[in-house]
Amino acid sequence: MDYLPIFMNVKGRLCLVVGGGEVGRRKASVLLEAGARVRVVAPDILPELAKLAGVEAVISRFEPSHLDDVALVIAATNDRGVNVLTSESARARNIPVNVVDDPALCSFIMPAILDRSPLMVAFSSGGASPVLTRLLRGKLESIIPQNYSRLAAFAERYRERVKQYVTQPARRRIFWENALDGVIAEKVLTGDEACADAMLQQMLENEDNIQRGEVYLVGAGPGDPDLLTFRALRLMQKADVVVYDNLVSKPIVDMARRDAKRIFVGKKRADHTLRQEEINELLVRLAKEGKRVLRLKGGDPFIFGRGGEEIETLAEQGIPFQVVPGITAASGVASYAGIPLTHRDYAQSCMFVTGHLKDGSMNLDWDALARPKQTVVVYMGLHGLATLCMELIKHGMPEITPIAIVQQGTTQHQRVLTGTLATLPGIAEREKPQAPTLIIVGGVVALREKLAWFHPQQN
Ligand code: SAH
Repeated sequence: MDYLPIFMNVKGRLCLVVGGGEVGRRKASVLLEAGARVRVVAPDILPELAKLAGVEAVISRFEPSHLDDVALVIAATNDRGVNVLTSESARARNIPVNVVDDPALCSFIMPAILDRSPLMVAFSSGGASPVLTRLLRGKLESIIPQNYSRLAAFAERYRERVKQYVTQPARRRIFWENALDGVIAEKVLTGDEACADAMLQQMLENEDNIQRGEVYLVGAGPGDPDLLTFRALRLMQKADVVVYDNLVSKPIVDMARRDAKRIFVGKKRADHTLRQEEINELLVRLAKEGKRVLRLKGGDPFIFGRGGEEIETLAEQGIPFQVVPGITAASGVASYAGIPLTHRDYAQSCMFVTGHLKDGSMNLDWDALARPKQTVVVYMGLHGLATLCMELIKHGMPEITPIAIVQQGTTQHQRVLTGTLATLPGIAEREKPQAPTLIIVGGVVALREKLAWFHPQQN
């Protein structure tokens, strides 16, 4: 973080704008909207700026004495000398200063804003790309409707009352989330506040009976945060606790609600930080404490994710849960590596198998795997790669069958190694791919050469 984002209260305080042109006018207007009094200093001041209510116009070049009693300064002149002088004088007095389009002279920068007062969204690229910031602002405009102002005002109106009824902060947050994320919010947004008032009151009165703790078993996809589902994202913003393991990439864990507690439960090969039973118990305990628990799993929770075992325990204990599917490694990784899993000419079926079995051996139905015209995707298979290739050949798959290992697929560390059943074990030995890796076997792997060129994400 290069800057600390804060919202400053300037109501009734004197702020200085140096510069009397169009930019100065815009800056003065923002300050006035925030309730400041504004002193504008410049040899020439646009008449429409000078006559704005709340503006004190001083026709003069800037002098340090103009800083007397000032809480904040914005320099908006096209004279660098004046800008430098303003910046230095303000800094000497510890007054926050912004020089338009000159970050080196600034002690603070002005964000782009989306005003849904009292709800305010401010964002900034730290000067890196104002255009990007503007594009983002446009997007937010479209997803945060104008009448969010109304919703924020509604929440503000009830804030104290809810505080009295629901004294415990965690419960209060859940109460508000339910209120602001459901029917009541819809009523406010469509203007039916009387109905919203009645519903909120009813909700307050029944607060004690509301079922709290629950578990969201969420598939986080194979790594690229762009592959999350909307539902996953929404629940990530809602959860009080995030329980995740090492298949979930850091950028994804970072997207959970900022003040959510994060619990790492590990799971590397043979180095289980928490055993599965302990994870199951942890989820139950947290939910019983009334928490909304986000159990984030790599890929899809129901594909080699032991999600079934986790919800079995929850169901036994009567804890409400929901399961959110994710893009499983096979599908994400194959598409980012340019390998279609099925193809009319090369594969009419596709099997997902795991190469890591409970007792450490690889006891697969080799005859079924070795059949022609199908794709075999092996999860957790790197350690058994040599055995896998040998068995497939032994069971009739041609030695020249193409096979790929994709390491850390869909992430920026994605790397694809290709070869044949005969050559890949040697290549892997040499290249030492990093976990997690996925193995794809079958004619479709050869298509990668043709398709790779068109696929922007892959190496
Ligand atoms: N539930 C997960 C799979 C968990 S098993 C899913 O649906 O994807 C863990 C295995 O998944 C790893 O050993 C590896 O084989 C595979 N895997 C998960 N993410 C991967 C990635 N980004 N790149 C390659 N393989 C991955």
